[in-house]
Amino acid sequence: AIPVITIDGPGGSGKGTIAGLLASRLGWNLLDSGALYRLLAFAAQNHGVSLTNEEALEALAAHLDVQFVAGDDAREQHIILEGEEVTRAIRTEAAGAGASQVAALPAVRAALLQRQRAFREAPGLVADGRDMGTVVFADAQLKVYLTASAEERAGRRHRQLLEKGEAANLASLLDEIVARDDRDMNRSVAPLRPAEDAILIDSTQMDIEEVLEMVHKEAQK
Ligand code: C5P
Repeated sequence: AIPVITIDGPGGSGKGTIAGLLASRLGWNLLDSGALYRLLAFAAQNHGVSLTNEEALEALAAHLDVQFVAGDDAREQHIILEGEEVTRAIRTEAAGAGASQVAALPAVRAALLQRQRAFREAPGLVADGRDMGTVVFADAQLKVYLTASAEERAGRRHRQLLEKGEAANLASLLDEIVARDDRDMNRSVAPLRPAEDAILIDSTQMDIEEVLEMVHKEAQK
């Protein structure tokens, strides 16, 4: 089977960054599964579909016109929705909240399952999300569960936004992160939790390089 490394964890744990860097180091494909849920919520808004209309969202998910195009920087791939670049537009906290709302709907998750598995192409795949190791790629060779304290994750997001020159409020970011964790961990389908055979890494006191080295070493075993 084509090898897969899964990196799951809560929002802001750094899994997207680590997955991107690891994929480029290994020369493997990358799946940012959270982007699919963000794109669905974004497309729903564009098409006037309510985020609670499970049937309409299921149909939209099945036909979502999306392209992931590799960028020069391994951390950023360009995401094209219905011909329009939405790479940055889907990164807002509002899009994240919309994503976590549609992600709680079983029909939506089922509709996105095959699309995610199709990313498993030679020579290998690094997939990041919430249920990569527990559901989508349950047979993965290496499963990582990456976490950090909510305060640390809010602080990182805050710094990122300030660096981009965007408005940011630490207290409300923390509230949003805690609310999204709560929804992701307590939903009935594919709740966020480590796979039984996952390696747990708490990155609260670690920088990106340290986490990358640790995961890369595990991948080499
Ligand atoms: O990782 P990211 O913050 O982009 O994910 C956005 C939302 O999409 C998450 O809060 C979660 O609700 C949902 N998601 C999911 N399963 C995944 C990836 C993301 O339910 N594999």
